[in-house]
Amino acid sequence: MLDRRSVLLAALIALSAAGSAESDERINAVATFSILGDLVRNVGGDRLEVTTLVGPNGDAHVYEPSPADARRLAAAKIVFMNGLGLEGFMPRLIKASGTRAVVVVATRGIMPRQMAHGEHDRAAIDPHAWQSVANAKIYVADIRDALATADPAGKAVYDANAAAYIARLDALESEVRDIVAKIPPERRRIISTHDAFGYFSQAYGLDFIAPQGVSTEAEVSARDVAKIISQVRKEKIPAVFLENVSDSRLVQRISEETGARIGGTLYSDALTDEKGEAPTYIDMVRHNIRTLSAALTS
Ligand code: ZN
Repeated sequence: MLDRRSVLLAALIALSAAGSAESDERINAVATFSILGDLVRNVGGDRLEVTTLVGPNGDAHVYEPSPADARRLAAAKIVFMNGLGLEGFMPRLIKASGTRAVVVVATRGIMPRQMAHGEHDRAAIDPHAWQSVANAKIYVADIRDALATADPAGKAVYDANAAAYIARLDALESEVRDIVAKIPPERRRIISTHDAFGYFSQAYGLDFIAPQGVSTEAEVSARDVAKIISQVRKEKIPAVFLENVSDSRLVQRISEETGARIGGTLYSDALTDEKGEAPTYIDMVRHNIRTLSAALTS
């Protein structure tokens, strides 16, 4: 029987499903790290309240979650993570938090880059897929589709936001390619700290050599450092770069011993805060390519 109360309730449910624009009931979304958080914000717009676990300049490889992170997950309706082995802390955190959120792996559809490294040449998967702008477009599509499934009333908004942002990524990609084209091919070789630029290298044709492998967790052996120093000398690699998430001492030492100049700081795994050089994904990619180009063309 349909009494007045249930009619009213049905009307209320219909209203909230319609998702009025001025609704302050924003969907609680969590992204595991700052770069992914920025992509989620660009797609979700005003419909989402996005928080990130690993904050600006934070290192997701070695992150130790706090009880507050467990509470954030518990309160979330949807959680975005990179996958590909980046967030080692997530399986336990998801379990400990008891969250019932939908957990979305935003790299679905990306071809993972395999790499052999380390003493036993164990194959490892490179998690830094976001460093190719073409991949960032796949993240955005995955985020858009996951949001539309979790919040069907917002589908048109997510579609429009994603399309607008993908257009900006297309422009960014052309900008990167134009800049790379102006770097003399024999100078497209770089030393960075940890191997975070494999997808970037694949996409844009710059060679990166990194002492530390794909995770900042790895210890660098004296033998590895000696090998890189002799490689820098032999191949006359012009510049070495610091990273916001890595210890700078290694790169400084390579620079001192080889005379390769320090070309600046690259943002690999985390954005900066609002006042920094790379507060958004687009700012990060633009900063990195300009920094690389300035050091390699001068
Ligand atoms: Zn990394």
